[in-house]
Amino acid sequence: MSLTYKRQNAFKSASPEELKKIFDYNEGYKKYLDNGKTERETVTETIELAKANGYTEYTLGDKINPGDKLYYNNRGKALFIIKAGKADLAKNGVRILVAHVDSPRLDLKQVPLYESSDMAFLKTHYYGGIKKYQWLALPLALHGVVALKSGEVVNLNVGEEDGDPVFYITDLLPHLSQEYNEKTVASAFKGENLNVLIGGIPADGDEANLVKANALKLLNEKYGITEEDFLSAEIEAVPALKAKDVGFDRAFVASYGHDDRVCAYPEVTATLETETDQTVLTILADKEEVGSEGNSGMQCILIKDILDILADSYGVSSAVVRAHSMCLSADVTAAYDPNYADAFEPKNGSFDGNMSLINYGVAMNKFTGSRGKSGSNDASAEFIGHLRAVFEKDGVVWQTGELGRVDLGGGGTVAKFLANYNIDTVDLGVPVLSMHAPYELVSKADVYEAHKAFSAFIK
Ligand code: MN
Ligand code: MN
Repeated sequence: MSLTYKRQNAFKSASPEELKKIFDYNEGYKKYLDNGKTERETVTETIELAKANGYTEYTLGDKINPGDKLYYNNRGKALFIIKAGKADLAKNGVRILVAHVDSPRLDLKQVPLYESSDMAFLKTHYYGGIKKYQWLALPLALHGVVALKSGEVVNLNVGEEDGDPVFYITDLLPHLSQEYNEKTVASAFKGENLNVLIGGIPADGDEANLVKANALKLLNEKYGITEEDFLSAEIEAVPALKAKDVGFDRAFVASYGHDDRVCAYPEVTATLETETDQTVLTILADKEEVGSEGNSGMQCILIKDILDILADSYGVSSAVVRAHSMCLSADVTAAYDPNYADAFEPKNGSFDGNMSLINYGVAMNKFTGSRGKSGSNDASAEFIGHLRAVFEKDGVVWQTGELGRVDLGGGGTVAKFLANYNIDTVDLGVPVLSMHAPYELVSKADVYEAHKAFSAFIK
């Protein structure tokens, strides 16, 4: 028995067979990233995976029987995967895994199209916490839906295929940036300047705004939409970049939207692949990046409705089921970044600190929040003690996490919304470098350990 605590590098502790598994597993993850860049696309893609594993669509209100493998599609933006088990719900409750599939991006405004200096632009309102300057001078793709008055919904996806055009937000040249350079970053970059360039060739005629007219003509020819149809559209500008291996050793994956697909994918694959008698409820949530509000976010009562129906179906009190349920709130955490060391807890000598280290496995945040843990779900020592035993049994490489230096800032996750239903909940997720940047970075070993952790938890 060792008297000291030391975390382990997940690449170093992996056997040659495990190393191969780590790399193979991440090939699937990269496809998942490239096929789903919006919450809607990730829900659609996950439904395909679930169907391929024998899951069928659930109609809200139907009785759920032991052995059922179901999915419930909430408005195309959030997903509940229900794996109904044989175990006694009154004793074991439900094993809940929840990750979110919305990511920071630029949403088009409702009347987005305008022309200036013979260029056509789309106005945006950013979604979630972004550093605005990171979205300039970058290839962008447009993804989303346009709901027509007829009820038809037109899908739009431009900028991802080879040969597709991309879209673009301009930046000021350094030669003329002297005055900008003296401003603070917060004041130099304005949300109202995040206008996406979409065209530059004028239509025939002598009227004003012929470049805008030409853009509308092209949109109408390709998608059958008019300017008014933008009123009922949800179109997101996202980086037109594919997931790629990083490093000569290919240790890392860089991609848009790791937060939080890097927890969604391990959660989904663990649910679909793991043999268990437990009842498992796996949730892909929307709107986490804007506070989990609305009817596709985790503050929506739908989670309780589904637990109530499960409890009813098994003939057990819903309150009892919730009291015995456990939840891993699967969300990313900040990986310690040696290039910005002062944002994190000081590391003294051999002391590893409380920050999660990249490559050191999946990270558990007992608490999140900011300034005195405010707004945090602070998981109980007893629940974490239970998880320590569960993870040790399956050889999961895991570590602690904390979102940066005390008093510097902070953040929250959906954990507290689950805990509010009397469910033991803790944050567990993959450490990310450059979180919320258009192109984020994770370790392949950490992604794989997340899969192992979720699988161990639902057994
Ligand atoms: Mn997140
Ligand atoms: Mn986030």
